[in-house]
Amino acid sequence: MDSLLKHMVHMTGHRDHAMLDMSTISAVQEMAGAAQTRMLGLSRSAGQDWVRSRASVRGDHPARVEDQLGTGRGEPLDQYPALARCLAEHSANATQDEDGRSTMWVPIWIGEHAASCVEIVRTAPFDPEAVHMIDGIVGVYRNFYNLLDYSERDSLTGLLNRKTFDDQLARMLQANPEPPLPGQPERRQLTAEHEQWLAVVDVDHFKLVNDRFGHLYGDEVLILIANMLQNSFRAHDRVFRFGGEEFVVLLRAVTEQDVGRIIDRFRSAVERHVFPQVGKVTVSIGFTRITASESPVVTLGHADQALYYAKSHGRNQVCHYDQLVADGLLQTIAPNDTVEFF
Ligand code: GH3
Ligand code: MG
Ligand code: MG
Repeated sequence: MDSLLKHMVHMTGHRDHAMLDMSTISAVQEMAGAAQTRMLGLSRSAGQDWVRSRASVRGDHPARVEDQLGTGRGEPLDQYPALARCLAEHSANATQDEDGRSTMWVPIWIGEHAASCVEIVRTAPFDPEAVHMIDGIVGVYRNFYNLLDYSERDSLTGLLNRKTFDDQLARMLQANPEPPLPGQPERRQLTAEHEQWLAVVDVDHFKLVNDRFGHLYGDEVLILIANMLQNSFRAHDRVFRFGGEEFVVLLRAVTEQDVGRIIDRFRSAVERHVFPQVGKVTVSIGFTRITASESPVVTLGHADQALYYAKSHGRNQVCHYDQLVADGLLQTIAPNDTVEFF
């Protein structure tokens, strides 16, 4: 019992999903006498369901994070027939025995949807006591996961809130496995795969939307734009609501050739969308490259300068900070200048 309590204290002491994943699988591993436990991420993309290992623990080794940012899709769900059946039937768990080993999958249901699943492998069959223990630990995980999610998200749009931005940006920079060597130009050192970008999106003349149609319709526009943002970018990109009608997107692994086109595709989708009652709405966007050598405040300031340029040159357009500087249209700002959003 002492051991279980210690695990509970550990699990609920985190403010971070990756740490919660790790302490949960460590608790299951020890308390269920497992040979291996993994926290799997479940996702859908390109018309297919995928299973990706986010964290794992084997034997007495410490738990480790595998792919927290979700850069890889993992394996097709078809390779896990028992889990696929369990998800289709919306059931509590599934087991499968082979070669004297037993594997159990416990999906973490949040309403109709399961985005995570604990996988436990034992060398002996699961006895009722082990199943009971696993159910209890997974229940604590689910409650605490919801609580963490709630504190990280904006209540109107469900996007990540500003509070989580620095942390996510730091994680992206850490995930870059090859920082540029001293004395080498950063741009040449980074491969396309590693290029990261930050975009600031601001709704044009949003005050007019509120003034003409009222706050409720204004809110509806913000929710729809938030949905369009999430659908326009990939699962491993990150979308934040920074306040009011301002959003920030962190894009991973996009080449300089593609980034402008990808961001403009979103701008154009908003322009073409007919918003209920309100009709046409447009957005202006400023974006810049993210580098490990610049602080988040400086990077945000650069994207904001590009946004300001877009606003003062007709709105409904995308501007690239680095390009504007190269063309002599923008001056670089000192790092300690204050950043002002629209
Ligand atoms: P610009 O094109 O220069 O960005 O003009 P704008 O009118 O969008 O910019 P401004 O900053 O003057 O106005 C932003 C407005 O956003 C003012 C505020 O009432 C509205 N707003 C901020 N937060 C919310 C919200 O949560 N819901 C609604 N409906 N409106 C909001
Ligand atoms: Mg605005
Ligand atoms: Mg604004």
